[in-house]
Amino acid sequence: MTKLIATVFDLRQHVAIWKAKGETLGLVPTMGALHAGHLSLVRAARAACDRVIVTIFINPTQFNSPQDLAAYPRTEAADVALLAPLGVDVIFAPPPDQVYPTGFSSQITVSGVADPLEGALRPGHFAGVATVVAKLFGMTQADRAYFGEKDWQQLQVVRRMVTDLNIKTEVIGCATLRETDGLAMSSRNARLSAQARSAAPALYAAMTAAASAITTGRLSSDMALKAAENALHQAGFAPVEYLVLCDGETLQPSTDLKRPLRLLAAAWIGGVRLIDNIAVTPVS
Ligand code: AMP
Repeated sequence: MTKLIATVFDLRQHVAIWKAKGETLGLVPTMGALHAGHLSLVRAARAACDRVIVTIFINPTQFNSPQDLAAYPRTEAADVALLAPLGVDVIFAPPPDQVYPTGFSSQITVSGVADPLEGALRPGHFAGVATVVAKLFGMTQADRAYFGEKDWQQLQVVRRMVTDLNIKTEVIGCATLRETDGLAMSSRNARLSAQARSAAPALYAAMTAAASAITTGRLSSDMALKAAENALHQAGFAPVEYLVLCDGETLQPSTDLKRPLRLLAAAWIGGVRLIDNIAVTPVS
């Protein structure tokens, strides 16, 4: 039986009972508007943990613009209906003042891995993410927390924070779920017009083509990235904010194929900002 909970007090009561019984607890933080990508994290948590908490909280502090926050889809009833059959124990959907009570004045800032790419383009975004994730870890005392590789930089930021702050929660990264045409599932895809939706798979296509050209040595990374950027412009993406090859852990630009590399992109199509990333692994 899935319980819908709105207060930290109620959440802590459930957690205390489970912990007293020695049960393990998996946490899946989300902002709602759930799709199959989110549900894959829930299934991974369900398979590995005695208890599963899914949080639905549209965290205001990680949005850069009030318009983006206002436009974020809110579909709580549908989300609850999707989660109930998956055996989720608790859905924690607090109002903002439960998370940020009057006088709230603390913030976690992660430097290094949080600085480039999304960090540079969305100032304060990762401080908002790190702070709310640390709070959710504190509220739930989760043994494991599940995050999507879809938000690769976010995953690395959370890993860094957990290591740096000696947080006991184990961070589990889960593969990006895609539509059959390759488009990474995202709550933002619902905002795409029919025309933009049909052009959007070009992002993943251009990225996989670049990754393959680089790993087979067919093109230099510079040339492969240039070709991918041209393909994106032709498909109607504008602007392409970044399309870069990075060290998968530090997010610093790198072409060292002996390290796990990641190709990351952010680009706009039809007024919607899409992000994606893939591994760039040498063919052995
Ligand atoms: P969000 O609700 O967008 O904050 O996402 C909540 C969690 O779901 C984050 O850990 C995301 O990385 C993850 N997620 C979002 N989209 C996908 C996807 N297509 N595949 C796997 N995980 C995803």
